[in-house]
Amino acid sequence: MPTASERLHNFSAGPATLPLAVLEEARRDLLCLPGAGASILEISHRSAAFTAILDETRHNLRQLLNIPDDYEVLFLQGGASLQFSMVAMNFLRQANGETASADYLVTGSWSAKAVTEGQREGTVRQVWNGKDAGFKRVPSLAELDLDPDAAYLHLTSNETIQGVEFPDPPFDIAPPSESGRAMICDCSSNFLSRPIDISRYSMLYAGAQKNAGPAGVTLVIVHRPLLERSPPGLPTMLDYRIHAAKGSAYNTPPVFSIYLVLLVTRWLRDEMGGLAKMEERNREKAGILYNRIDESDGFYRGHAEPTSRSQMNIAWTLADPALESPFLSRASERGLVGLKGHRSVGGLRASIYNAMAPQSVEELAAFMDEFRHSH
Ligand SMILES: *Cc1c(COP(=O)(O)O)cnc(C)c1O
Repeated sequence: MPTASERLHNFSAGPATLPLAVLEEARRDLLCLPGAGASILEISHRSAAFTAILDETRHNLRQLLNIPDDYEVLFLQGGASLQFSMVAMNFLRQANGETASADYLVTGSWSAKAVTEGQREGTVRQVWNGKDAGFKRVPSLAELDLDPDAAYLHLTSNETIQGVEFPDPPFDIAPPSESGRAMICDCSSNFLSRPIDISRYSMLYAGAQKNAGPAGVTLVIVHRPLLERSPPGLPTMLDYRIHAAKGSAYNTPPVFSIYLVLLVTRWLRDEMGGLAKMEERNREKAGILYNRIDESDGFYRGHAEPTSRSQMNIAWTLADPALESPFLSRASERGLVGLKGHRSVGGLRASIYNAMAPQSVEELAAFMDEFRHSH
């Protein structure tokens, strides 16, 4: 049987590295969940044992993120990609059969995909698009020409591919409860990496496989009053109100994925000490790599502008692109894997989510120095 010592330093962007303690616990419980007499994979999603898991996961997320009482926490399927469509179907389609208009910020590949799906359901105003400038930064509020009547403003808090991240809250504007402007955020790749001021958003969604658990479950945090805007007649599975009314168990939820999210939330609380501590640790890790880039005399070049740098996905190139391939192969010999940049942008990328150990980041930094000095 393979052992933990065979695990590499895995910088994959997603699915991504999970805490070893979580994997070990899942392995232990795989044959038999304590007290349930069977594996989590084999029991009804209506059983007391699974209901307790769902309730505790929801409770832990509420506690970690300090989620106000008038927000629902939902566990859905279809990935963050289905949310691109569900958001638009629920909040651009209107009860009278007409469609509304929404404002979208396009800061990288994922927000561009959200736009494509939004356009199928209504009018999408791209109030900022960083594509021509190479998606190197996020905009400031002063650059945006927001529509006061938009159904919502959609943004991606961390662009996983380009490595640009918004601060939280992204803008100093009145929260939805005061302004009436809904704000919807795809936070797939920085969810649980830092505290979030939930009250600044009407809805947040995240595919779990970047930072919160395995693929197969998507977390949605939504302000209850927003749900009243969904039009009638949506397909049942695409209607947030049904999932909210049924406590995310209208149909069979992804039981094993939710169970792993539960273990991750316990790890965050008990081992990491909560999200403020987690953020501190993430900043230190990212700082180590950005320093290596900044102090390399141009040998390494960071993709994002310094004020928009992601703490989760560090994207960079080599001044001499011909060295990228030797960089990757020599890194891999050292057990440093998953460092190839996304095929759409090239270069290199280190994804250093919560579960990435500081020692692994130090190993990568040492390798970066060594590689530079030998070329
Ligand atoms: C990975 C990712 C997605 C897509 O997630 P799926 O679960 O594969 O659909 C969407 N948005 C962001 C920011 C991502 O990082």
